[in-house]
Amino acid sequence: MIYLDHNATTPLRPQALEAMLPYLRERWGNPSSPYRFGAEARSAVERARARIAEALGCQPAELVFCGSGTEADNLALRGAAQALRGRGNHIVTTAIEHHAVWHTCQALEREGFRVSYLPVRPDGVVDLDALTASLCPETILVSVMHANNETGVIQPVERIAALTRERGIVLHTDAVQSAGKLPLRLDRLGADLVAFSGHKLYGPKGAAALYARQGTPLAPLITGGDHERGLRAGTEHVAGIVGFAEAVALASAEVEAEAQRLGTMRDRLERQVVAAIPDAAVNGAAAPRVPNTSSLSFRGIDGESIVLGLDLRGICVSTGSACSTGDPEPSHVLLAMGVPARTAQGSIRVSLGRETRTDHVDATVQALADIVERLRGISSLGGEAA
Ligand code: PLP
Repeated sequence: MIYLDHNATTPLRPQALEAMLPYLRERWGNPSSPYRFGAEARSAVERARARIAEALGCQPAELVFCGSGTEADNLALRGAAQALRGRGNHIVTTAIEHHAVWHTCQALEREGFRVSYLPVRPDGVVDLDALTASLCPETILVSVMHANNETGVIQPVERIAALTRERGIVLHTDAVQSAGKLPLRLDRLGADLVAFSGHKLYGPKGAAALYARQGTPLAPLITGGDHERGLRAGTEHVAGIVGFAEAVALASAEVEAEAQRLGTMRDRLERQVVAAIPDAAVNGAAAPRVPNTSSLSFRGIDGESIVLGLDLRGICVSTGSACSTGDPEPSHVLLAMGVPARTAQGSIRVSLGRETRTDHVDATVQALADIVERLRGISSLGGEAA
């Protein structure tokens, strides 16, 4: 198998698994228990929190462990919206967010909040003039993702933070696709709330975190015990948290070298695709992007058919966000960038990772060229418009 869908999920690093095993086998105590067996689990959770804080540049007390990136996004948006309701009811986000943010904003609209969905430029970067114009005295929260899951395009979060901070508006960024791929320093990014997730950076599924800058107003989604400083009740997933911290620490240590390696391979893939396949385009190529992600469009055919064709040859890629698989609608991200619906329909996302080698890239380009040619042949026989 050639796995090129690392934005959907990543394999667990062996070191993360090793770090987790003692907490699944022998040290299975409840971190809230008063005796030493519980304290052992508690100190594992707190050591993990300190490791992540050290790797990402924040205070340990600013991290809330959650069960997924989706939950971290929900805690950020719903938690801040509820805590700030007395100050205003306007939320600003973008037209290219992951469903974890987009659908949560839609749910908040049904609860009486007003949400502005900002346009992006054709390169996939949010329009800062539109953002500035959208802010008003009722704006309590801005949510702009750090890196897009489909195109890899990086948003200017630091510049947005300058705009929100001077107006006293809380800024959330979904860093699920940038954590582990870019050198991330939470103290410099400027966002007040940052979500990231273990399984996207070679940690376990079921472990994620929300960074909440000290003093950021936040109400819990889940009530119960006093876990996570009252922000996320429920017994901690000790082994998951330990594996997550191991993965974050290892990813931060190697992020720059790996970004260089993946960027070179991603560029090779895109160069070859554009050279070998007529009417192929790279979406978001003009903007800064995370180095592992490539969004490719092939005019006149269906992305879903390309994904199936590659699967038959043992190559895993996706049509876009993992959550939208099986969704016949063209990608909302590409549509927001002005890609015509028919072209957006013929798009795939290739996302490289730690096990990717140059020969995987070359084999994928070869397979893609064959499949696209065959599908275009079939569609022209069937009389479909190209
Ligand atoms: N945000 C982005 C940008 C993502 O790509 C994803 C997952 O694909 C999520 C949030 C959700 O993360 P999780 O799968 O941990 O719930």
